[in-house]
Amino acid sequence: RADTALYAAKAAGRGRFELEGGEVSAIARELAAAVAAGDLRVHLQPVVAFDDGAVVGVEALARWDRPGHGPVPPSQFIELAERYGLMGPLGEYVLRTACQDLADLHARTGRRLRLGVNVSGQELCEPDYPARVLAVLAETGWPATETVLEVTESTLDGQSATAVAALRALRSEGVVVALDDFGTGYSSISRLDTLPVDILKVDASFTATVATSPRRAQLMRSLVALADSLGLDVVAEGVETAEQHVLVRDVGCRFGQGWLFGRPVPPEQFPVYLDLPDRAPLQV
Ligand code: C2E
Ligand code: MG
Ligand code: MG
Ligand code: MG
Repeated sequence: RADTALYAAKAAGRGRFELEGGEVSAIARELAAAVAAGDLRVHLQPVVAFDDGAVVGVEALARWDRPGHGPVPPSQFIELAERYGLMGPLGEYVLRTACQDLADLHARTGRRLRLGVNVSGQELCEPDYPARVLAVLAETGWPATETVLEVTESTLDGQSATAVAALRALRSEGVVVALDDFGTGYSSISRLDTLPVDILKVDASFTATVATSPRRAQLMRSLVALADSLGLDVVAEGVETAEQHVLVRDVGCRFGQGWLFGRPVPPEQFPVYLDLPDRAPLQV
């Protein structure tokens, strides 16, 4: 596996090793080795329903503690993985680990939470991507209907045809699709109607502005109404304050995620969020 990953990294990054010198390629090689050795961790962050405060889902977030350097932000190592062709093995590792963690959580607590996993455009465009996802689900026994693939709009812009076909194939097997970071970049309202999407995740930057002016709150209200009319659920990302929580809830949003409800934690700590009484704000 290590050799395969490194080979893929070299193939995809051909020409870059020379151009960017030793440091970038050293990090990429360490990342490839970490993926192959299962040294990445997957943290889980709760998604809550506003009506009763219950945790209804989780988002799986990759974490890499680079030996001798400490934690590397996901934004950095995901970009590196994309540039060096490591996204396939990395994404599959995160999906398998998270499915196992959620299956364990179900076995221990009786709670079956929806699992959100981020997918990069590069993975989505690999020809065998749908088959590999279904194989991991079969292997771990995790249901397709409790699996949410989170893709960004930009992912679907660049490689539309292949990416959209992969999502359609997986959706026909029951997998759920979320449009991540909605409201950043060029969000196209007309595309909401044509993309194979079930959930809108409104970006944290959008959530934050709802508290800054009545017009922004009104914009969010309109967005939620539009999503409702198309049969899409809306999750407000990055809810940090009680004020934001009240505002996004009052404009009709029914689900939220953010530090107010719980930070991403290692799976062994996640049950803490489930033990709290309903309706109480969840804090770490
Ligand atoms: P994302 O998918 O939009 O994930 C949400 C990000 O917001 C996470 O950052 C999370 O820790 C952070 N977050 C959650 N609540 C709050 C809050 O209340 N306030 C603030 N300021 N931030 C909050 P993280 O873990 O650093 O991940 C960043 C991005 O990296 C993710 O954004 C996702 O695009 C990407 N990523 C992470 N893990 C994976 C992965 O396994 N595969 C892929 N393809 N991308 C991943
Ligand atoms: Mg996400
Ligand atoms: Mg997001
Ligand atoms: Mg984001």
